[in-house]
This record gives sequence, C-alpha cells and structure tokens, in this order.
Amino acid sequence: MVQARPRVIIIGAGFGGLSAAKALADAAVDITLIDQRNHHLFQPLLYQVATASLSPADIAAPIRSVVWDQKNLTVVLGKVSGVDTEAKTVSGDNGVRSGALPYDYLIIATGARHAYFGNDHWETFAPGLKTIEDATAIRHRLLMAFEQAEMAIDAAETERLLSIVIIGGGPTGVELAGSIAELARAALARDFRRIDPRKAKVILVEAGARLLATFPEDLSAAALKSLQRLGVEVRLNARVSDCNAQGVKIGDDFVGAGTILWAAGVQASPAASWLKVEADRAGRVKVAADYSIPGHPDVFVVGDTAALTDARGVVVPGVGPAAKQAGKYAARVIMARLHGEVAPAAFVYRNYGNLATIGRRAAVVDFNWIKLRGPLAWWLWGGAHIFFLIDFRNRVAVAINWLWSFLTYKRGARLITGPTITQPREADTERKGMSQE
Ligand SMILES: Cc1cc2nc3c(=O)[nH]c(=O)nc-3n(C[C@H](O)[C@H](O)[C@H](O)COP(=O)(O)OP(=O)(O)OC[C@H]3O[C@@H](n4cnc5c(N)ncnc54)[C@H](O)[C@@H]3O)c2cc1C
Repeated sequence: MVQARPRVIIIGAGFGGLSAAKALADAAVDITLIDQRNHHLFQPLLYQVATASLSPADIAAPIRSVVWDQKNLTVVLGKVSGVDTEAKTVSGDNGVRSGALPYDYLIIATGARHAYFGNDHWETFAPGLKTIEDATAIRHRLLMAFEQAEMAIDAAETERLLSIVIIGGGPTGVELAGSIAELARAALARDFRRIDPRKAKVILVEAGARLLATFPEDLSAAALKSLQRLGVEVRLNARVSDCNAQGVKIGDDFVGAGTILWAAGVQASPAASWLKVEADRAGRVKVAADYSIPGHPDVFVVGDTAALTDARGVVVPGVGPAAKQAGKYAARVIMARLHGEVAPAAFVYRNYGNLATIGRRAAVVDFNWIKLRGPLAWWLWGGAHIFFLIDFRNRVAVAINWLWSFLTYKRGARLITGPTITQPREADTERKGMSQE
C-alpha cells in the first residue's frame, strides 16, 4: 500500500505563509495554501496606492501565478473561520468547507488589521490601510475632498475639506503624510481653478514624544525635519480623543478635516480564538520558541499573528522580514520532523534594517551598523522595495511609475473609483435652474 504523504495546510499567502510554502517546495508533502483573497500583497507600498502614485496591480500578484510551478502545492480561495486541533481540520467558507480540510501540520499566517483601541466606530471616519480595498477607498476620499473643495461655496468648508489629518507617527503615518503633502503641493497644484491645492493642510498627530519610535532618535528628528520641509504640521505628544464626519478632537482642540486617516495601531487576526490559546493585548498568539503553539507541536503560528521573544531576548517585530524568517523557520521544523532529524536551533530574528521614506527625495535608513538619511537613503529605500516586490512585472511597473513621477511630479493613478457625489456650487445650481425653465 502506498503511504499517504503528510498534509500541510498553510493559512495566509502573505509574507509568512508564502515563505513557508516556498521553503517546503522540495518536501515530500502535499501543501494546501488557503487565502481569503486571490492575491499576495506587498503592504509596504500600499500608501503609494492610497496616494495615487501606484496602481493596485503594481503591488499585488495573483497567488496562483506566484506558486504555479510548485507541484506539491494547491491553492484554495476561501476564508478560514475555525480550526479543530483535536480532529485536525480547518473550516471556513468558499473553498474551505466545514471539516473538509484535514491536516498533519498547520501553519497559520493570517496577519493583522488596524485597531482603534476600543473606539471601533472611528473606523467610518478614519479608515486604516491594510488591503487594496482600503487603499483605493482612501484614494477616493482624498481625491474627492479636493473635488468637493473646488465645488464648495463656503470658505470655512473649503478649508475643512482641504485639511487632512493622519493619526499615528509610525512609518505608515510618516509615509502617508509626506506623500499627501507632495500630492497637494506638486501633482495637484495646477489642476484646479477655484482652489489652490498647495494650501491644503496636512497634519500628522502622534501620541508619543517623537515620530518613528522604533528608529534611533536622530533619524526620528531627521524625519520630522523632512516632513516640516514639505509643509506637514506635526503634532507630538498629542492624543486624539474623538473623530467624527467633520474632523478630529486632538486633546481639547477640534480640527476640522475633510480626510482623516488612521495609522495608529494593529490587532492580530483571530487565530488565538480559533485555537483557544493565550494571546497578548494585540491578539497575537503566544507561541513557543519554535513557533508552535503550546500542547500542539504540529500547529505553528507565524508573522503578525504571533508573539515571540527570540532566543537572544529580542521581541520579534511585526514587519515583513520577520514574517518571512518565521515562515521559513516553521517549514524547517516540519522538515526536520519528517526526516527524523534534530530540530533546528531556536529561532533568532535577523534585523537587516529599518527603512521609512518621506516624500520623493528623503528617507531614513537604520542598518544597525550605519544610519542614513536624505536622498541617498531614498534611493536605497527605493532599490530595496523594488528588489523585494514579488514578481518581475511588479518590479518593472513600479520602477517605470516612479521614474515617471520623479521626472514629471505627476501621479498616474489619480483615479476616483466608485460613486462620486458632490455638492453643486451655487452658480451651477442657478445655471441648472435656468436651463430647466
Ligand atoms: C500599510 C503598511 C505598511 C507596512 N510597511 C512595512 C514596511 O515598510 N516594512 C516592513 O517590513 N513591514 C511593513 N509592514 C508590515 C508587514 O507588511 C507585515 O508585517 C507583514 O505583511 C506580515 O506578514 P504576515 O504573513 O504575518 O501577514 P500578511 O502579509 O498580512 O498576510 C496575511 C494573509 O492572510 C490572509 N488571511 C487573513 N485572514 C484570513 C482568513 N481568515 N482566511 C484566509 N486567509 C486569511 C490575508 O488575506 C493575507 O493574504 C507594513 C504593513 C502595512 C499594513
């Protein structure tokens, strides 16, 4: 009788899940890779889709096309909603029918979403950035605010519409602020007749004492200076206490805003509740040193959904390289078990550096052994991001788009998709009334 091959289910085709799948490419296992979306997404460049520099397809690739040549792998489009660790099955909708998918090994890499610290109702007014849909919805809001300002009758309303508040001074907040300031001051500058987009106010609010808290202090200061040079108003030690359709309350100060964006916190996917295991405050599963979960050595949780302090005492951060390293490591643990070999040495996170960009000319880069800022850092940031994009088509598309906007200051993806409902100007209403007569 032919011995059945071990079944490995990987949930999530983000950085962690894909790297685990690729590391098992030569293993004698049957892999099922499940994702609720049909594409792998390069989240570090999402802010460029949100600010009309890149198109969605530039930073995403169909999962099937990424792994088409991996013969031991099947892709399933479906949303997982439960795991039975006793029966060893995964359940969910679409392609994942209840109890239909059994596993011998399970790797969960379902990532995280933004968190509103108990104020979930703010999401309507201050959307966060995690998916392609989030990015195109933000692009819609941002561009619509300029269109509505062009149509507004009242000067105060025009000013409100041209005010953009970004909450959270981490890399995403800093990158959004810089890019929006450049959108207003350069790309949109000459395209309107009644408003001057250069007068748009971009306000970045951070509760802590400095921007980019995970970077060295001098790079935080450099980022602050670069943003101020672009005309961004940065409010440090400032806490948002309320959000509504009209604006944001920052401490006791109400700031009217046409666009409010959330870049302030993350919450892990609900894997901990599927597995009924302990999680930290951000919902991340507290995993063992080999990324397995307590009591279930055949179940691994990696990437943004996992909480781990590595063998050297370093808290593994929620970043792309950490998710990739964890995915690869879990695959090595599985392979060692399959071959009856000694388990790999305890996981150690390799931090190759932190990068953040501020507009199209400045960035800050911390490689641990060297710190860079300014244009050189920007070129390094750009090169690294092109290199890490998932496929060749993405790399070419992003490089061409960047070159084009670098030379022309234009943003090729300035499309408002979805319904566009604007308030008519007084003069337009009068004209319409006349023509109806
Ligand atoms: C705006 C933004 C900017 C960022 N910038 C950087 C940066 O500059 N540098 C950096 O290193 N990191 C950055 N990060 C963080 C980095 O993207 C994450 O740390 C990394 O993506 C985590 O990888 P992951 O595999 O854990 O999760 P993800 O890459 O998020 O993948 C999770 C996958 O699981 C799927 N999934 C989720 N739930 C289910 C379910 N129930 N059923 C089926 N599938 C499911 C999702 O569709 C997704 O494909 C950024 C993140 C964001 C949001």
